[in-house]
Amino acid sequence: MAQRDRRLKPNILVTGTPGTGKTSTCSLLADATGLTHLNVGDLVKLKSLHDGWDDELECFILNEDLLIDEMEDMVKGGGTIVDYHSCDIFPERWFDAIVVLQTDNGVLYERLTNRGYTGAKLQNNMECEIFQVLLEEARESYPQELVRALPSNTIEDMSNNVEILSDWGYTLVVISNS
Ligand code: ADP
Ligand code: MN
Repeated sequence: MAQRDRRLKPNILVTGTPGTGKTSTCSLLADATGLTHLNVGDLVKLKSLHDGWDDELECFILNEDLLIDEMEDMVKGGGTIVDYHSCDIFPERWFDAIVVLQTDNGVLYERLTNRGYTGAKLQNNMECEIFQVLLEEARESYPQELVRALPSNTIEDMSNNVEILSDWGYTLVVISNS
């Protein structure tokens, strides 16, 4: 297993299919813990860490090298909650915990259509959730004991998750300080 970087505060990766609630959950978790929420999609747009727009997939073509370079300093000291719909692009040593949010098909379908997703984009994202792509990816990329799947269907789920992750984050801080 790769050596985790030494840091006083944990870095938590919150991943999942678009629409599972990453950004909403991270925002509440940041408020609850004082950790910093880093929305990677926003960073990619803001700093143009991409090679243009993919018309077919309707998303930016990520430039992984630029992104990793940009993020290295941000995660170095710890205390960052990283919000992104992919997880195998990051160095394993960055994270103390990897959370995969999961949403039931009907609920996710409604969230994505509300967001204006249609056609191939809607279908790709639904399939991504149905086949548990992010959970697989997380399990293949990080030590099992650091990966945790949490349901994100209701507001109650979200507050439970924030509570669970706040406690978990605290435990991680205690471990990394000891
Ligand atoms: P993501 O960042 O994973 O794409 P968002 O946090 O933007 O997801 O959430 C997408 C939409 O679903 C938002 O309108 C949000 O309010 C809603 N939502 C997300 N998670 C939940 C949840 N657990 N319960 C109820 N609504 C949720
Ligand atoms: Mn988001």
